[in-house]
Amino acid sequence: MKDNFETNEDFAIKLDKENPLSNFRSKFYIPENKIYVDGNSLGLMTKESEKSLLRVINEWKSMAINGWLEAEKPWFFFSEELGALIAPMVGAKPEEVVATGTTTINLHALVCSFYNPKENRTKILADVLNFPTDIYALKSQVLLKGYDPAKDLVLTPSKDGRFLEEKEIVELMTDAVALIVLPSVLYRSSQLLDIPYLTSEAHKRGIMIGFDCSHSVGVIPHEFNKWDVDFAFWCGYKWLNGGPGAPAFLYVNKKHFNTYPGLTGWFGNNKETQFNMSIEFEPANSAGRWQISSPGIIGAAGIEGALNVILEAGIETIRKNSLLMTSYLIYLIDELLTNEPYNFTIGSQREQNRRGGHIAIERKEYAFEVCEALKVSGVVPDFRLPNIIRIAPSPLYNTYHEIWQVVNKLKNIIDEKQFKKFIKS
Ligand SMILES: *Cc1c(COP(=O)(O)O)cnc(C)c1O
Repeated sequence: MKDNFETNEDFAIKLDKENPLSNFRSKFYIPENKIYVDGNSLGLMTKESEKSLLRVINEWKSMAINGWLEAEKPWFFFSEELGALIAPMVGAKPEEVVATGTTTINLHALVCSFYNPKENRTKILADVLNFPTDIYALKSQVLLKGYDPAKDLVLTPSKDGRFLEEKEIVELMTDAVALIVLPSVLYRSSQLLDIPYLTSEAHKRGIMIGFDCSHSVGVIPHEFNKWDVDFAFWCGYKWLNGGPGAPAFLYVNKKHFNTYPGLTGWFGNNKETQFNMSIEFEPANSAGRWQISSPGIIGAAGIEGALNVILEAGIETIRKNSLLMTSYLIYLIDELLTNEPYNFTIGSQREQNRRGGHIAIERKEYAFEVCEALKVSGVVPDFRLPNIIRIAPSPLYNTYHEIWQVVNKLKNIIDEKQFKKFIKS
């Protein structure tokens, strides 16, 4: 790919002309005068989301309680309906996915159902590079079952603080491991783990495995059934553009539908008998049984519109465009910003099938100050300690010309020493 790119501005414009998704930008609200490359933290609002949100707000206004069964998309079935809508994007059956809770809550709900330590098999295997909330939650799950996180939560180390070695994870899959929970894409470096390989190695050893796909669903296709993943969960507000604090999703492989959920609540009941109000819980025969409470319908409405935009674009086309965007970004950094005095380096995998949708740009000195200057110049990136500027070009709403501008702004910031005014003495 590298050889086909050029560093000039006209080339960026040419890439935009060839972009099969270029007409999707107009489906989003783009913050004025900003280059928004932070869609892996909070995706932008689609006009479709605005419509689905307004529809639900109006239904609340006009129908009140009757909206549960009489709304255009009856609220009572809305979580399951959103699960079915997203299922093809993750390679799952419609009944294996449900929109519910939030990421950390879903982790708790699933891990407390599938972590059954006994005898010598007592450990959860995770990794040191996961998003902290996942580790906090896993620690508490180990404690809740009466075990000791210092011994029973095993974290795969990282040699360089950026990447994990799949082989090393597999070496840690010992007879003492009861459950494995890993991220699909690492939130800092963007490394995409080999989910099918890790899943098959776990299963060879009789270990259950689940993935946090917060940084991959919406930008990468998944094949949960083909890979035979036991369970997965992911958030709705990053690449899925569902809105701040939007409901998350969970996937449970059909073969586990007979597992009794660890955190039960009435929305996990079989829908047909839920309103019999029996005090005997009768779990739904679907991923829906892992729901706990009444769904937040207003938040969920934001997801509906956003999902329809992603489905219209097609996840394969999205991935293809995303890879071209990140390859182009890497190329520009390599060509323009690696030498003195720029000294930027790429902290993400260069192999396409090993990286997610964002790129980590590192700089040994003044990375934070450079990022502040970049913000002042009109770019919305984000910064991750210790020295990482994350750039997440959205294949749905960013342009190649914006990527070109981000790199040239970084160049200016160094050329003109603009970052110096952000140095705290
Ligand atoms: C974004 C993200 C979360 C967020 O957790 P919430 O419960 O939604 O606040 C959790 N885990 C990972 C890996 C994430 O990327």
